[in-house]
Amino acid sequence: MKKSLPWLVPVLILAAGSGGCRPQPSVQAREMNLLVITLDTMRADRLGCYGDRSARTPAIDALAERGVLFENAYAPTPLTLPSHCSLFTGRWPFAHGVRNNAFYALGSAVPTLAEKLKASGYETSALVAAYVLKEKFGLSQGFDLYDDRLDSGEKVGNYDAEIPADRVYRKFQNWLGRERLGPFFLWVHFYDPHKPYAPPREYLDMTRGDAYRGEAAHASHYIGRIVEDLERRGLLERTLVVVAGDHGEAFGEHGESGHGVFCYEESLRVPMIFSNPRLFKKPVRIASRARLVDVMPTVLEMLTGETDEASHGRSLRAAMKGREDEAPQVAYLESLYGREENNWSPLTGLIRGSLKYIALPRPELYDLRADPLERDNLLLKNEGQAREWEAELTRFVRDHRPDGEPGTRPALSPAEKERLESLGYVSSAAASAREGLDPKIGIVYQNRIAELVAALDRGETDRVEREAEGLIAETRDLKLPYAYTLLGLVYEKKRDWPRLRDHLLLAIEAFVDEPAQAEKFRGNLLELYQAGGQYGPAEELVRDILAHDPRQARALEILGEIRESHEDWAGALDQYLRARESETGNVSLGRRVLKMRLKLGDHKAAAAEIESLLSTEDGAAGVDLLFTAAMLRVEAGDGPGAEELLRRVTELKPSAKSYFDYALVLGRNGKVGPAAASMEKALTFVPNDLDAEMREAAAKTLRLWRERPR
Ligand SMILES: [Zn+2]
Repeated sequence: MKKSLPWLVPVLILAAGSGGCRPQPSVQAREMNLLVITLDTMRADRLGCYGDRSARTPAIDALAERGVLFENAYAPTPLTLPSHCSLFTGRWPFAHGVRNNAFYALGSAVPTLAEKLKASGYETSALVAAYVLKEKFGLSQGFDLYDDRLDSGEKVGNYDAEIPADRVYRKFQNWLGRERLGPFFLWVHFYDPHKPYAPPREYLDMTRGDAYRGEAAHASHYIGRIVEDLERRGLLERTLVVVAGDHGEAFGEHGESGHGVFCYEESLRVPMIFSNPRLFKKPVRIASRARLVDVMPTVLEMLTGETDEASHGRSLRAAMKGREDEAPQVAYLESLYGREENNWSPLTGLIRGSLKYIALPRPELYDLRADPLERDNLLLKNEGQAREWEAELTRFVRDHRPDGEPGTRPALSPAEKERLESLGYVSSAAASAREGLDPKIGIVYQNRIAELVAALDRGETDRVEREAEGLIAETRDLKLPYAYTLLGLVYEKKRDWPRLRDHLLLAIEAFVDEPAQAEKFRGNLLELYQAGGQYGPAEELVRDILAHDPRQARALEILGEIRESHEDWAGALDQYLRARESETGNVSLGRRVLKMRLKLGDHKAAAAEIESLLSTEDGAAGVDLLFTAAMLRVEAGDGPGAEELLRRVTELKPSAKSYFDYALVLGRNGKVGPAAASMEKALTFVPNDLDAEMREAAAKTLRLWRERPR
């Protein structure tokens, strides 16, 4: 028995006991761990290994040196959650059912890579870096560990919450320190290249001020650290490393800056690398097409020998072995972002061979080989072709539709049901593409609104107000939610709360047929009432919101606040706990729960809450929690426990006050010498935050301790 493979023992025993009547996965295959690294918002052509000379991504490039790089890998959609769902289920978005961020969750009926590998004996862990992939959105199924904790200052429902690469690496170190029994599947998610582009200074300097490339460099650095750590532990040889992007990023090529609206090459072409120093001794580059849905069948075949029949993807093993003619030919693409967020027409399409078809009111067809920048729409010259493509797209969607109900949550709220019903285009993708505003026109409005928001920030309030009013009137038939949002921002800037309230009520009315939009404006109105302490109307609105979506965490949180204002601690606790069911690991909710537990005198539950909060709020952010925990220990009569906690407080945040408290507990525990030393520090600490009364008490106590016979 090789000493380095302790986890083989249970596998072999299991195999021996099962009588050999069914095929066993070969030991060879079972020797591999799997590390999937997803790089959010990483377009392929901004990495060194994809030919970008300005990139500073040596660690990612080094992985490609010991692996297979797919030069033409495609994401199915430019949206984080749906794209990750395709990667980890091997299904197109219309089949797994997750069509946008935030309003969807992957249903439990859809098998995931984590579930499959877990069933094969893998330990499964995920370390994610952004709110959009939190547990509640369903990707956690099959993972033994799903670490989605984010910033310690995280607000409820903050879709912008993220952590940078160094924090992701710290999660990795914690994970690496855990004891493992079997082979592992680890997914590490980096969010750095996503907006806002704000890399640490040294990475910005490294890329000569190019912040996007700086973010990629930052992520690459920590990927390098992860690889080094695995190598040091002797794990790298036995780990298949997959690096993939979830979508790209546009820099104005087709009018969009960022991602989400369009499906041009800058948004869909992503890095895809399979790396392992033992399996791939020299670098291989493959030009034929690969898709994110191919990752799951590929790794399942490589790791377990299993073929994944249900997948829409195809194993890339044959292509890796040089049989490129067996590579997939067709890729589906979509973005329903414009439909869902802006009321535009849905965007769907296909890539077949070198042709890319985009179904929209003004459909598009590009020859990617002759026209890689997608400037020459072939359908303008040959409209007849559009009908053929439309029919092909409809056929494609029909052929890949799931038998049962697609994804989404097991129990649908009324808002979710309405949303699903409004997705009639699930089954007739192309037909409905003619409804609504073409995003090519929509983006012009969106860019104009973005300019006006910037002008508002510069203080041009009156001009923006006039233009926003004009815009709403001008686009009354199109009903652009962003135009309403813009005018709301104007009133907010002017601190004209009555007009803001009236405007939001009007917006809710205007979007009565668009439940998702109305929901957003209700949310804005709720924040307004909450900020103004108008608990009466707020409570009424909360009921309205919860009738549409009983799990809306922010509404539940505000209901809790209202209960708190009536000093109904138990009622408030109840709401906060309900809110936390949708928002696990949220620190601000955890603190609210803690406060209510303390109010109710449930010190045991409070202490447990603190423990869990401290696992996220490490360092100075958690000092007040350590202090509260210490006070609870004092009350429970646990002197040594309190002493240890207060010692940590003086270390993390030395102050006159912290030395004072520490001294008192030391004194109580009979440690007079150290107590006197700490009290001395309390009196001499600069700046001193003890008030006159406390200083006097400190001096008096110190004298007593000094006079006491040792
Ligand atoms: Zn993303």
